[in-house]
Amino acid sequence: MREDIVRAAQFFSADAAVVCLTGAGVSAESGVPTFRDAQTGLWSQFDAEELATPQGFARDPGLVWRWYMWRLEQLEAAVPNTGHAALARLAGLCESFLLVTQNVDDLHEQAGSVDVLHLHGSLFSFRCASCAAPHNLTAEQRGADLPPACGVCSELVRPGVVWFGESLPWDAVEEAATAAHRCSVMLVVGTSGLVYPASQLPLIARQAGATVIDVNPEPGPISSIADIFLQGKSGEVLPALVRAVADRRASA
Ligand code: NAD
Ligand code: ZN
Repeated sequence: MREDIVRAAQFFSADAAVVCLTGAGVSAESGVPTFRDAQTGLWSQFDAEELATPQGFARDPGLVWRWYMWRLEQLEAAVPNTGHAALARLAGLCESFLLVTQNVDDLHEQAGSVDVLHLHGSLFSFRCASCAAPHNLTAEQRGADLPPACGVCSELVRPGVVWFGESLPWDAVEEAATAAHRCSVMLVVGTSGLVYPASQLPLIARQAGATVIDVNPEPGPISSIADIFLQGKSGEVLPALVRAVADRRASA
């Protein structure tokens, strides 16, 4: 067992209050491209930020719609990986465990995690871009070249995700920030730490005295402020971490 993983495991005591912040990296091993992979993938000829802003949607709603329908198809084909499963198991080993994700997929829930805060919305929900009425897609609307019209006001329907330049769901952000203030461990997994305000949560936790643990194959802004950097893929590091936590309990 890796020495750094054994060292990290000691912070997950039975009375630990854990906040876990995840990003696109936790779903990478499920075949869901991270944001950066998406930019080098099929849609590399487009600026990904153009596809994820209200201005981009206003300019070319059909292009944005087709991009999100393509991502929806990808997500529907994806299954949770060993990293998602390990986080669901880790939650059961700690007194309190709040999962805060920037992901718009539902792989944490599919793996059995409860108490999941989605800071950036969901790719499985749709609403009117004007009056915000929720909208259920038909198969025909999914295959169409343009977004459907809202049944209430006839304006265009949009994906229920947070785009660049938009506010995050306030209650979710507030709950995450409060939990970050109070937690004893902040476990960060698979996020580049570049997207505000999620990127602030590890800093809030650190300033309040929590132990910050970062899991990522690459060093970055979070690993540089973390107490422990567990370098590697979440699908490999997290199951080993959970084994180490369970071993400690068994030998206690
Ligand atoms: P990001 O693409 O900016 O960063 C991904 C991070 O994951 C990088 O630091 C990378 O080194 C790391 N990574 C890659 N493979 C990994 C692995 N196997 N295990 C652990 N880490 C791995 O993603 P972000 O920080 O989440 O921010 C981008 C935004 O894009 C988010 O707001 C999110 O809403 C959105 N997004 C979501 C999904 C999804 O829902 N699955 C996918 C792509 C983008
Ligand atoms: Zn409407």
